[in-house]
Amino acid sequence: MSREPADSPSVSRRTFLAGAAATATAGGVAGFVGGQALEEQYRAPAGPFFDQRSHCYWIESAGIEDTPPLTSLQGDQTADIVIVGGGYTGLSAALHLAERFPERRIVLLEGTRVGYGASGRNCGLLLPFINGAEAITHELVDADRVDEARKVFDLTSAGTGLIQELVEQRGVDCEWEPVENLMGAVTPRQEARLEGEQRMYAALGLEATWLSETELRQRVDVEGYRGALTVPTSAMINPAKLATGLLHLVRAAGVEVYEDSPVLEVEPGTTVSVRTPRGRVRAPMLILATNAYTHHLGFLRGRVLPIHSHSIVTAPLSEAQIEALSWSGRQPFFDVRSFFNLFRLTADNRVLLSGGDGFYYYAGAAVDREGHPDYERLSRDLRMLFPALAEVPITHRWVGHVGTTLDFSPTIGTVGPTDNILFAGGYSGHGVTVAMLAGRLLRDLVAGEPLDPVYDFVLNRQPPRAPGEPLTSAGFSLAKRLIRWDDAQ
Ligand SMILES: Cc1cc2nc3c(=O)[nH]c(=O)nc-3n(C[C@H](O)[C@H](O)[C@H](O)COP(=O)(O)OP(=O)(O)OC[C@H]3O[C@@H](n4cnc5c(N)ncnc54)[C@H](O)[C@@H]3O)c2cc1C
Repeated sequence: MSREPADSPSVSRRTFLAGAAATATAGGVAGFVGGQALEEQYRAPAGPFFDQRSHCYWIESAGIEDTPPLTSLQGDQTADIVIVGGGYTGLSAALHLAERFPERRIVLLEGTRVGYGASGRNCGLLLPFINGAEAITHELVDADRVDEARKVFDLTSAGTGLIQELVEQRGVDCEWEPVENLMGAVTPRQEARLEGEQRMYAALGLEATWLSETELRQRVDVEGYRGALTVPTSAMINPAKLATGLLHLVRAAGVEVYEDSPVLEVEPGTTVSVRTPRGRVRAPMLILATNAYTHHLGFLRGRVLPIHSHSIVTAPLSEAQIEALSWSGRQPFFDVRSFFNLFRLTADNRVLLSGGDGFYYYAGAAVDREGHPDYERLSRDLRMLFPALAEVPITHRWVGHVGTTLDFSPTIGTVGPTDNILFAGGYSGHGVTVAMLAGRLLRDLVAGEPLDPVYDFVLNRQPPRAPGEPLTSAGFSLAKRLIRWDDAQ
């Protein structure tokens, strides 16, 4: 979740960090995919792409594991559009496409269960902007082009309205709660950065209020922050319930959804063919909505990296405990560091804490390690932030995989050797609203409709590429140290 104003200390900081990360991971070597045989490039290695072990509170609360999976794909089939991946990107694309083209046969293949990826495991905060758009907005505001800046804000934040519509007009129950987010600062430099954010929001005609430490502690009595900025147009949700609500709508719209159907191989061509363990679908159009896992199929290798992020939740707090924390307004909180803390209340009043260092594993493996040291670190952080919660038990710990690019901006558009393979992802931890919006943009691309030029900065782009192992892993460790140092400034 990055937010980088232009011409502020943070821009040079982000540029520095992106540069550091890119240089460290790339080892100064420019990447190039060409030259590999197709069959090698688009085939997943044997074994599950995500060996899930940890126990995610959201997935449990949405009852995903209490229902049997949908049937898996069997035999050879044809479709007009095949979508791989049942997270928000795939589900939103499926819904938008099915409603635009009711006559087309759309098949969605999910490797495990719908919502098992980041979409069912995230913190459920609806954040404005597509990563990268904030810097553009700052530049426009600084150049006195405020109307254009407001348009960038509105168009890149449109995913919030899409989710609100699902809730208010289509009956999706995802514990939608309109709230103001609080964005905290630990150091004076971070405070100055938030002042820049506040000026930007004011120029856009949006209210963002700086809260001193005392004022912050009247909203949520948390230790260790100098103050916080309120972020406008926000809400929080139960992420897994959003995924299951979308699944229901997608199926009602006529999309055929198969679970437990991991795609093992993609054969590009005018008719694309995707193979699962027990079946195959041929279609003239393929949408890869596989985000952090895309490299397993050979696409965007080194360009969209799976970064592991851990979360914990406590047992439910009593009303008295929430009052003692002055948290009756229930505002979620995250801070402005690159390795930030994020905490919020769930609908049943548990405290969720997420964030800290991201982890990258050799060759982009998706690892779910019981007893990962980050769980211990998160437990310590929780007691430090809220000393009054020292005795509250932690009931759930889980990991999620964030599809991240080295410059933190996503990519939406064609990918691969033929222009009938589309992808959206790499939202870099800022994807709840963006994935919803990406689904609508993918529909427009399939329909051959031009996108508004505001989206040019993410359209059909090649994010910087890491060079491959062992340099990527080594570079990632180095970049982490640089980021930690920078976060302390
Ligand atoms: C811990 C955590 C906290 C976060 N918090 C926030 C937040 O508060 N706000 C915010 O805006 N963003 C947040 N994010 C980011 C957000 O969750 C993601 O950007 C978003 O969910 C991405 O959706 P997606 O559909 O692109 O990817 P995913 O939800 O990961 O979906 C990809 C799907 O593809 C399937 N798949 C992969 N490969 C194959 C294959 N070969 N065959 C078949 N299926 C396959 C996977 O099983 C998965 O279901 C967070 C992420 C994490 C991990």
